[in-house]
Parts: sequence; C-alpha cells; structure tokens
Amino acid sequence: MSSSGSSGISSGCRGRGGESEKGIPRKCRCGANSMIQTSNTLKNPGRIFYCCLFGSHEEARHLFKWSDISMVEEIEEVENVVEKIQVDVGSLEKGLHDIDVIKAITQVCEKEIAELKAMVFCYEKEIEALRCFKNMVMCGLFMGIGYYFIFA
Ligand SMILES: [Zn+2]
Repeated sequence: MSSSGSSGISSGCRGRGGESEKGIPRKCRCGANSMIQTSNTLKNPGRIFYCCLFGSHEEARHLFKWSDISMVEEIEEVENVVEKIQVDVGSLEKGLHDIDVIKAITQVCEKEIAELKAMVFCYEKEIEALRCFKNMVMCGLFMGIGYYFIFA
C-alpha cells in the first residue's frame, strides 16, 4: 500500500466557537444550530460560511467557519475512511488467501483420511478373515479333542 500521505491543509484559526469540530459544523458551542450564510464583504464576496445565530467573523466566541475549509476537512475525513477501508480490504484479501491455503490443506487431509479409511476397511476385512480362520481352527481343535475322547 503506497502511503504517499495526504498533507493536511491547516484551516488556520482554531479555537473559535464550534470550530474544533472537523468538517461541516452542526452546532455552535452556544448550542445553536449552524446556518449557511454567504459573505458580502469586499475581501470574501460570495464566499459561503457556517455560523450560528450570533456568529460573525469578528465574534470569536461563536461559530464561524468558511464552507470551503469545511469541505476540505470533510474530503480529508473521507480520504481517511477510504484509506482505512483499503487497509481492511487488504487484510480481508490476506484472510481469503489464508482460507484458500487452509482449504488446500483440508483437501489434502481429506484425501489422506479417505486413504486411511480404505486401509482400515482392508484391515477389517483381514481381521474378519483371520477370525473365520481362528473359528475354523478352534472348531477343528474341538472336533479333534472330541474324537480323542470318544475314540481313545
Ligand atoms: Zn453560537
């Protein structure tokens, strides 16, 4: 992941009412909702800003924030979220790869288990055959003993 890093644009004047909030301000420190206004000063004609009912560029205790600065902060926030999501996707992809590896190992294990089962089946058959043989031997032995007692 390339971390070229987005150099943060400092919005300057901090510590004003409500300006500690990043992005679009919802409320002023005084509790009033933020409003969108358009500047009509010579210095910033037509520039849009957020302020509360009592806010102005001169009134430092209340909310006053240029909307373009808010927008840049919002975009930065979104960029941060996207970066986090990219990291998450990266780890998810790694997780998926790990799952593939585990699947491959499981398949090998399943194959080995199937082979072992086949072997066990063969041994069971052999044991069954040996049991039959043992029974026959025992039978023959008892018959032999029986003959011995009857005809001896
Ligand atoms: Zn206020």
